[in-house]
Amino acid sequence: MDPLLHRLAQGVAIALGTLAVLACTQSSGPVSPWMMTTASTLSSDVGSDSAGGSDSSDAASGTPSESSQGPGATSGMQDTENDATTDGDCEVPDPSPAWQLEHLEDVVAALSGESPIDGVMLSDRATADRRALVATWLIEQYGVLGIAAESHDYGSGTNVVATVPATMPSQGVLVLGAHYDSVAGAPGANDNATGVAVVTAAARYLDTVPCRTHDVLLVAFDQEEVGLLGSAAFAAKLVADRTPVISVHTIDQLGWDADGDRFIEIERPDAGLFEFYDDVLMEVPAVGGLTVTDTGFTDHVSFRAAGFPAVGLTEEYVSGDTTPHYHLPSDTYDTVEFGFTTAASSMVNRAFATAIASP
Ligand SMILES: [Zn+2]
Repeated sequence: MDPLLHRLAQGVAIALGTLAVLACTQSSGPVSPWMMTTASTLSSDVGSDSAGGSDSSDAASGTPSESSQGPGATSGMQDTENDATTDGDCEVPDPSPAWQLEHLEDVVAALSGESPIDGVMLSDRATADRRALVATWLIEQYGVLGIAAESHDYGSGTNVVATVPATMPSQGVLVLGAHYDSVAGAPGANDNATGVAVVTAAARYLDTVPCRTHDVLLVAFDQEEVGLLGSAAFAAKLVADRTPVISVHTIDQLGWDADGDRFIEIERPDAGLFEFYDDVLMEVPAVGGLTVTDTGFTDHVSFRAAGFPAVGLTEEYVSGDTTPHYHLPSDTYDTVEFGFTTAASSMVNRAFATAIASP
């Protein structure tokens, strides 16, 4: 095995938090793969403002491992499949919801040209027109789900930002993101429709977590492939807005697992973030383990550079168990290992639920 691969034993719980994403539900609106999925229960308390953060004491400190003992503490999280908590009103739902696989498949299909978006079968997501089509579609899907979402235009491109707000005074903001653009000529199913699928599924899931202590921003970044432009612009926005960010988690490629070990690579985890995922892993048996690497070159770099604690999630890129279709026309829907994507989605859901669950 690659020397970089660390099979990590179950660790001690250190809380920290973060992530979120989108949600989906059925609707009578225009047909799209995303909306064909079965409706889930959606909370109706969607807020309109992402900043939240009335008290940013620990959020702004940049010390994630200290910042959210409550959300990550084991007291409120259960090991059982049903996740029953001692407080029935704040029961955390199963991080592997019934709609999960179909949701992931539908989003990857739409973004990679396996199925149409507004009648268009996308050949790639590299041109301004096609990127705009995707951005608009994502906002529409969030709207159908009742999740607040808006575009963040920064000049050369557009990020899509959805918010799953805290249900009580926010203790800070967690960010989960994935780039939605692709290189020219590549359908980008793995890179990075899978990441967008996991992020949107997390939004949908987190919206069903009843007692939320943090706001979660779910971001689809534009122009990663041409120099991390979208994530850099969004990091600058967070700084300018003085958003009380606790940590930023970005996903790039979660669709390949040829050796079937269900390992997920954790890239450059800042203080506390590896321990956080290592602890979460104990509650997600579908994931085989974590590989820690020092790899950069994708969106998490933008946030670290802006001073935010950050981490990247991906398939085993450094260890070599990564798609051979990278940036090629063959990066298509049918090459994605959805069993792996689903396992990763469950881990992300569990991680963010842990981070935002009421203690
Ligand atoms: Zn990528």
